[in-house]
Amino acid sequence: MSHYPFPLSPTTGISNKENAPPHVMIVGAGIAGLLLGILLDRAGIPFRIYESGIKLQPEEGVVSLHAGIFPVFEQLGLYENVERLSLRIAGFHIHQDDMTKIGTLVMKDGKTVLGYDHMMFCSISFHEFLASLIPPGRIHFNKKVSSIEENRDGVMIRCSDGTPYHGDILVGADGGNSGVRQGLYKLLQNRESLPVVDGLPMRRGYMCMMGVTDPLDPGRFPVLDQHVSKAYQVLGRSPSPFSWCIVSVSGYRINWKVIVQLEAMSPEVEERLMGDSRDDSVDETEYWSDRQQQQYSYPHYQQQPKRSSPGLDGNAFRIDALMKEVNGFMTPFGGTLGDLFDSTQRHEIMLTYLENKVFETWHHGRTVLIGDACHKLLPTAGQETVASMQDAVVLANCLYDLKSPSLNDIGDAFKDFKAERYAHVKEIDDISKVNAKLIYGQTFMDRFTRYMFLTCMPRSLQVKNIAKGMVYRPQAVFLPRVPHRGTGAAYVQRPSRKYQDKQRQQQHE
Ligand SMILES: Cc1cc2nc3c(=O)[nH]c(=O)nc-3n(C[C@H](O)[C@H](O)[C@H](O)COP(=O)(O)OP(=O)(O)OC[C@H]3O[C@@H](n4cnc5c(N)ncnc54)[C@H](O)[C@@H]3O)c2cc1C
Repeated sequence: MSHYPFPLSPTTGISNKENAPPHVMIVGAGIAGLLLGILLDRAGIPFRIYESGIKLQPEEGVVSLHAGIFPVFEQLGLYENVERLSLRIAGFHIHQDDMTKIGTLVMKDGKTVLGYDHMMFCSISFHEFLASLIPPGRIHFNKKVSSIEENRDGVMIRCSDGTPYHGDILVGADGGNSGVRQGLYKLLQNRESLPVVDGLPMRRGYMCMMGVTDPLDPGRFPVLDQHVSKAYQVLGRSPSPFSWCIVSVSGYRINWKVIVQLEAMSPEVEERLMGDSRDDSVDETEYWSDRQQQQYSYPHYQQQPKRSSPGLDGNAFRIDALMKEVNGFMTPFGGTLGDLFDSTQRHEIMLTYLENKVFETWHHGRTVLIGDACHKLLPTAGQETVASMQDAVVLANCLYDLKSPSLNDIGDAFKDFKAERYAHVKEIDDISKVNAKLIYGQTFMDRFTRYMFLTCMPRSLQVKNIAKGMVYRPQAVFLPRVPHRGTGAAYVQRPSRKYQDKQRQQQHE
């Protein structure tokens, strides 16, 4: 490694043999980063995960998963654990604010067609479950990656505590406000090689406040005694910009979300919700300093505040204002949203914008992006979470098939990764945008589309629409395949030549 310009770290290193597996550094212990770690471990590829939090930092809420990812858990021999950890979702009901029913998005015989139930997990339990499958010592907490350098021979990250780490490959699995992405894009912009669309901001369509209650009394909320997860979306009556989603989750708790469609918000409501806190949003591009071409860094303060916390006046103001605005709205479980707010730890309530964008640039040099870092999708029925996890599966496959840790071979593996994922992600993005309008859109056109979908569209077409996006089920190519489940169409996946060769070799021995 004579050209390597920085000293090797004692804990990690770059591969120095032609056919050795690459050393992978993953930034972010979210769902995508954790699953990638689990899969790399099974594939025998060395890795480390660097997480900025002092512990796991999942969004306060729920994770919903479907058939698009469960085959991988079967391959890993973990599907039963996953089932035990979750509640089956029994339909998604859409109601008017006076609790009259508008329709139900439910797939009769869903399990027969898809082979798996749609399942709901408590976010923290699911993250802890994934983290428990990573060998000890591989996740480094309190390691906020703050700068990155790379050259022909390797990549180096430096954390905000000053420690450097080295590897062959850097994976940005650091979420929707990815610093790895922003740093990389800044570098490419300086070289005038970033596609113009990637420099444009994400589309902000909705504001979302969410939380999970403390355990509640099932005497008061009998739905909590059922062994399924009940999910309701309630729509404020026109011209309201508000809708709210209520989901029963394990542990006698209720996950709630209040969604405000920005396009449907009147100036009066906007004034009440935003006050004069509108101007405190940060234009992240202002904070990039021009540094050497090979190095990019990102500031600490550009990540959106996840939770309300003292000092974040704008966010705290909006949470207060929004709570006040919707406090008396009824919920299908009985009582009002105010009752749920009263049972939720205030510091755990999160307010954020729902943004969406599929970026064009997913990799450059030794750096690659996965999950929300390269495609921020609107949250609808877990499609976005499944997409992040599928990225992890496909990237692990490409790294397993990597010929050598040379820059050229890494570049080819990243190209294969994007080639397999991009079209699917675009499809899910389209589905999510339509579903978002169906589920929480409040403009005249959204209401009209919802009415047509729920009342005029034949049931068979509705079912086809719900099942869309669940046909694609990539499996880990380096583990024995599990058979396709369900009567629906099966996804045909290209096998790994390396794995097939290994299998043949083992049979001869
Ligand atoms: C408001 C909202 C509601 C949602 N609701 C649902 C839902 O109900 N059901 C569902 O299934 N999905 C939901 N989602 C989507 C889901 O949260 C994401 O799709 C999923 O978490 C993406 O996973 P990820 O691993 O790509 O990123 P994240 O989960 O964001 O993980 C990124 C990780 O990187 C870490 N990190 C960030 N920067 C650094 C750094 N510089 N150095 C080191 N580490 C860093 C973070 O601390 C975090 O742990 C929702 C999303 C939002 C925004």
